[in-house]
Amino acid sequence: MMKSEVINFSLAEIEPVRTPVFQSQGITPGDKPSHVVYELYEDGVELFLKLAEPAAIISEISIREFAEIYTGEGKNEKNTPLEHIFPRATNLALFVGTLGEKISREISRLLDGCDFALGFMLDSVASFCADKVSKMSEQYFLKTLLKRGQADNSTRVLNYSPGYCGWDISGQGKLFASLHSEEIGIRLNESYLMTPLKSVSGVIVAGDRKIHYFKNNYPFCKECKTRTCRYRIRSLEAWIPVRED
Ligand code: SF4
Repeated sequence: MMKSEVINFSLAEIEPVRTPVFQSQGITPGDKPSHVVYELYEDGVELFLKLAEPAAIISEISIREFAEIYTGEGKNEKNTPLEHIFPRATNLALFVGTLGEKISREISRLLDGCDFALGFMLDSVASFCADKVSKMSEQYFLKTLLKRGQADNSTRVLNYSPGYCGWDISGQGKLFASLHSEEIGIRLNESYLMTPLKSVSGVIVAGDRKIHYFKNNYPFCKECKTRTCRYRIRSLEAWIPVRED
């Protein structure tokens, strides 16, 4: 089993992409934003490249061990997608990742009145790239499994996080107790929120792609505005080759 590993991602691995960043702000591909928006994006990317320090910790865990972590403080919804998915996994790994303290501090400084528009853009760029830290962590874990002969073309990896889809946010407590997040500068506050703000956490589930399929008809789905599970499940159809070092 893989030990806990600290991974320092390169900026090239998590670089921003304009279209999805714009889409996260409600700008669709058919829209024609003003040159001011494009300039803000360029300034945001420049700041991002100067300040981001992407890193993650990945720690493999057994299904039995994760069952205990998933239970958390007993506040999860009674029936959730993840509780049906993880027992069918071939491999599991806990992860935490961050873009570092500097970029979160700069977003707060800009949003606090120094330059709200640039702060908003930098926040959008950083959110997109924090998500890429999750994706790169998935790819790192998959690559490890492929090297060990524990994954093949039918294997898909997806991350699931406390605070989403019935896994209560208080699940962060046991998750963080199992990781040395301080090694990459991540702390958890009393409300289970992470500092720095642009950080991600959860469990990476590896297995046949069918284990990730489910219908989004849980009671809590009625309140969901994003329905990101549909996009995530669709993304499993494609086999994305793992990048070589
Ligand atoms: S519809 Fe929303 S809440 Fe329901 S499983 Fe999908 S992403 Fe989660």
